[in-house]
This record gives sequence, C-alpha cells and structure tokens, in this order.
Amino acid sequence: PAAPIDPFRQGWLKGVFDEKPVKEVHTRFPPEPNGYLHIGHAKAITVNFGFAKSHGGVCNLRFDDTNPSKEEEIYFTAIKDMVQWLGFEPHKITHSSDEFDKLYELAEELIKRGKAYVCHCSSDEVKKGRGKLANGEHGPRSACAHWSRPVDETLEEFRKMRDGGYKPGEAVLRMKQHLATKPEEYEEDERDSAEVKKGKDKLKALANNPAMWDAAAYRVTKNRHHHRTGDKWRIYPTYEFTHCICDALEDISHSLCTVEFETLRPAYNWLLDALDMKIEGSDEKGPMQREYGRLNVEGTILSKRRIAMLVEGCTVGEASTASKCTADGLADEVDELALAEDGEEELETPAEAAKAAPNGTGRKIPPAVMSWDDPRLFTLVALRRRGVPPGALKKFVLDLGVTKANANTATHTLDANIRTYLERTVPRLMLVLDPIKVTLTNLPDDYLEEREVPFDGKDKEKGTHKVPFTKTLYIDRDDFREEDDPDFFRLAPGKSVGLLNVEYPIRCTSFSKDPDTGKVNAIVAEYGKDVPAGKARIHWVASSAAHKSPVKAEARIFNPLFKNPAPNSLDWKNGGYYDDLNPDSLVTYPDVMMECGFEHVRQNAPWPKEEGEAKGVVDNSSVRFQGLRTAFFALDKDSKEGKVVLNRIVSLKEDTGK
Ligand code: ATP
Ligand code: MG
Ligand code: MG
Repeated sequence: PAAPIDPFRQGWLKGVFDEKPVKEVHTRFPPEPNGYLHIGHAKAITVNFGFAKSHGGVCNLRFDDTNPSKEEEIYFTAIKDMVQWLGFEPHKITHSSDEFDKLYELAEELIKRGKAYVCHCSSDEVKKGRGKLANGEHGPRSACAHWSRPVDETLEEFRKMRDGGYKPGEAVLRMKQHLATKPEEYEEDERDSAEVKKGKDKLKALANNPAMWDAAAYRVTKNRHHHRTGDKWRIYPTYEFTHCICDALEDISHSLCTVEFETLRPAYNWLLDALDMKIEGSDEKGPMQREYGRLNVEGTILSKRRIAMLVEGCTVGEASTASKCTADGLADEVDELALAEDGEEELETPAEAAKAAPNGTGRKIPPAVMSWDDPRLFTLVALRRRGVPPGALKKFVLDLGVTKANANTATHTLDANIRTYLERTVPRLMLVLDPIKVTLTNLPDDYLEEREVPFDGKDKEKGTHKVPFTKTLYIDRDDFREEDDPDFFRLAPGKSVGLLNVEYPIRCTSFSKDPDTGKVNAIVAEYGKDVPAGKARIHWVASSAAHKSPVKAEARIFNPLFKNPAPNSLDWKNGGYYDDLNPDSLVTYPDVMMECGFEHVRQNAPWPKEEGEAKGVVDNSSVRFQGLRTAFFALDKDSKEGKVVLNRIVSLKEDTGK
C-alpha cells in the first residue's frame, strides 16, 4: 500500500521547508499567557508542533510574557494542559521573560550601534510624525528631534527609564527603522542600473511599511509587577523587540505565525540584522518568519474580550476615560495597521469598564455562560469539557488545509467533522433522555433475561456486554404518542414497536397521565412472539437492581449561544449582544436513564483510543459514547460519586434539536 500522505509536507508547508531545508527543524508555539486558548490556537499548535515533528525536529512552548499587567498563573497552566491534551510534547517550555536581562543588554547594544533612540513625544506627536491624517490616511512623515540625539545621551536616557526616572508614557525606546527615510532616497531615476533600481524598490517598500516607522522597543509600563520577575523591571520590551530575538536565542529555524504578522516581517528581519543575529537569505544563521492563514470559526465568539464579557458579565455604555500613554499609542497604531483582521475592537476588559463607568450610570449585564470552559464556548478548555476529542480537532484543522489564506469555517462544519470522527471510534449504549415507564403485563414480576449486546455492531474489537431485560422498561417520551398517526412508526395505543437488541416487539395496551402535569407517566404493554411486528425499533433501558440498571444521569444539551448565526456582528460595545442570547442554548434533562454498559465504557476510557489521551491525559471528558438514536455524549467534570453528568458532544444528525 502507498505510504500515508503527511499533511505537514504538502502545499504551503512543503514550500516553507523547501525555502529553508535545514537538518534541525526547530519551531515554537508562542502564546501570550493572558487568556485561555481557543479553537484558532489549535491550528497554531498543530502547525508548529506537527511541522517540526514531521521533519524529526522539535517545538518549544514559549510563553510570550512581556505584558506584566495581563498575565496570570492559571493561563500558564491551562495553556500547557491544552498542548499536552492535543497530544504534543514541548521540547522546552520557555518564557520571553527568561531573557529580560539579555533583551535589555541587546537594547543597549542597539543604542550603541546608533539604531535606537529614546523618544518623549506624545501619542499625537507620534501619529503626526508618522504622517497620520485626520481621515486615517498617511501624508509625509518626519522623525522627531529625539531621533538625532547622540548615542551617549540616548544610553543615559534609557538607563533613566530603567531606573524609574520616567513615568509611563513619558519615554519610549524606539528603533531607528525607516521613519527618517526620505522619498528622495528611493526616487526613480532613469539612469539607475537594474541593481540600483532594485535596491530603491526595496527601500521604498520598507519606508512605506507602517511597521517600519520606528516602532517601540521598550516602554515604561503602568503596572510594574511581573508574574515571574517581580518588581525587578519598570520597563518592558515590546512584541516587536522581543519576538524575533527570542526566536534567535532559542535557535528557531522556522518561525511560523499568522498572516496578520506578514507586514511585521521586515521589522523582524531588520532587528535581527541590526544585531547581527541573522544573515538575510542565509540558511546558517537566524530564524525565518513565514505566515499561514488564521482559522476563523463563524457562528461563535473567539475574541478574549468578548468571551470575558460572556463569562464575567460587564458594564457598558460609558465612554472610556483612560487616557493613552505614548507606548500604548505606538503599539496600537501598529496593531491597527498590521493586526486589523483580528476583529478585536478597542474595548476595555469588563473589570476596566466597570471602573470607568461612574456608579450606576452604565448598563450592568449579567454573565451569559457558566465559565471559560462552558461547553457552549469554543475555547479549548470548553471543547475539551464538551467531549470533543483532540484528534478530531487536529484532523479538522488539517483537513481545512494550511495555506496563506485564512481558513473560514462554521461551527456546524466542525460538528459534522466531530460526528464523523466519533462514528466508529466510540462504543454505543442505550440511554433514555426523558424516560416513561413501561410495564410488560404479560411477563412475571421477577422476569429477567440477559441479552449479550455488542458495543458496536460493526466493530467486534469493542466487545460485548450483558444488558438485562425485565418486566419494567423505560423508553423515551419522544417514542410514544397518545394518539396514533399512520405516519408514526413507534409506540402508540394499540400499536407495536420493536426494541433494539430484543427479539420480539411490544404493543401498548393503555397509558396513564400525571393529573398535575397532564404528562404521560406510565405505559402498559405486552411483549412476545405473538405481538404483531412493529415498523421501527426503539431504544430502552430495563430496571434490574442486580445489574445496577438503570444508571441515572443528568444530560446537558448545548445549542448555539446566540440566535444570530453571525454573533460577531452583534452590538458588543453597548451590550446589544445580550438581547440576542438563545434562551435554549442549554437544555438540561435531569432524569436520564442509561443501561449498565456505561460502567464498562467509563472504566475503559479514553474513547477513542487516541495518541494524546493514551499518554495519560485521561479525564472525564474522554469517557465518550454514542447514545443509540440519541446523540454523542461525554462525561462532564461536574460528575461525582453517585452523580453522573453528561454533555452532548454533538447530535447524531444535523439539526435534530435533541
Ligand atoms: P486572540 O485571538 O485571543 O487575540 P492572540 O492572537 O492574542 O489570540 P496569542 O496568544 O498571541 O493569541 O497567539 C499565539 C499564537 O497563536 C500566535 O502565533 C497566533 O498567531 C496564533 N493564533 C491566534 N489566533 C489564531 C487563529 N485564529 N488561527 C490560527 N492561529 C492563531
Ligand atoms: Mg496576541
Ligand atoms: Mg489577537
């Protein structure tokens, strides 16, 4: 048979390797530890770890922790867990903050080389220097007076920044990229040789790239305390200064990131070149940044800030009062220009917004979900909790393809993939969501038959188990109708129906209702070879104390959080999103009854038998099964001794509403 196709050596990824076919492929996954990972990050993890692995190389997990105010311990742990859950093992776990001393040294080195300056301009002055016009376009640019300071003075000012001589916004170290490059320097001239022309074109492209307009390298932050380095630093390096240097220090060969960083690539190369940490076009020295398309999932919310609003609730309707300092202004502008696709508007975190709104004037909006791992969300912790297998996520990402184009998809496409993935890989059980008791009057009270039932009729490997069949059964409310109808093929008064895994059918002879609720609460039926055949077979669970049957459970069925199929288009700034919440996003069935085969399924998890989980990351969520005719389920973390809580992973078919 032909060797299986390695998705990490096809298409765009093949091109990336061919550009730099080094022996030791070394990549990194560099999350900011400022929130939980979402499904988009599953792509970044799969691409970085998978590419390295495919070439016999290694991948680091690097916490990009240069923003002291936003980091928390829980995120470090949660991120590590998710990488492991997806079945990957970091070669090393590193932190950008491990390199703070080295980064500082390199900043001084950059200054000594005449390639950085300490700038005291206000945010508006910076914008003006960058030629930003009122209409958002850019006019002529000019460097400020600080640009031409002597090296000694810059060094002194930088040390003053370090030693607390400046407050946030009063001083920023900026790189001397191409803000001062004049149009005359790349003006076309017909006498130019081909080579000179090429050089000018390159210079022109650099000079016109907003990421090259003397981006910030170091700033004094409002919040001084860093999670790992404590109060040692008052100044912290920016993404632009840190990322490429850390890549180089970690000997990263291929620095793979998402397309919004493409405009930052010249800045990445500029800094490494300025510090002799990279030789352009050389395989020998320095990392190579290449950009793949983001994974966007329509039909849900992925932005950290928006999920925070859903989890924590928020106060809206008050304009921000926080004034921006220069460093923020510098960073924002590049964000605005380079990271426009991110879709994150300038919202404050709920906590910040609450502070900004004078007492009682903002609209207070309550939380919409239980937690960051609420199974209705698409954070990785939520997908895991819901029971989505890590292998299904990896397959989903790779099937969409890794190219330069953004991969746009929708939650129902993901669901369809998960369904296919689970179809033959998890055992099947009978589970009744909303039970009605059925008494088979023609059987003796102590009647007990044990039926040998396969966990998967099409896969002997999964084995069989014994299911009791007794006088008292439970069937699903959906499978019974008080009034028969010729188009209805299940149980109704006078009508027969078959039972899964049982020879003979049952026929309803009468039923009764709860006088308070008016709901059917008991059915009487007869069973046996003389009962006329039914046109369908339904699932059921019998009552047998000896078999500990039924196993009782609570089941949670999840539906889209919003009525609007494109919730990102809702009004988030003013809280309008809250009015669009789907009241049926969580439907709970408190009295579920399961057959006793559940114990075997629980004890033999994980299902499917996956690589990552087989390595030991087995928790409740890896107890997965198909409820025959019902849905795919996984065990929720809320389950306790004596209380089973199930999450619906996906329905069996699209749009069953169950
Ligand atoms: P958020 O979407 O919450 O803003 P982020 O971009 O701030 O996420 P980081 O922690 O900086 O998250 O991301 C770590 C890595 O994951 C980066 O290399 C980033 O490019 C990548 N990444 C983030 N979102 C996606 C996505 N939707 N698809 C693919 N890769 C992504
Ligand atoms: Mg980020
Ligand atoms: Mg982002």
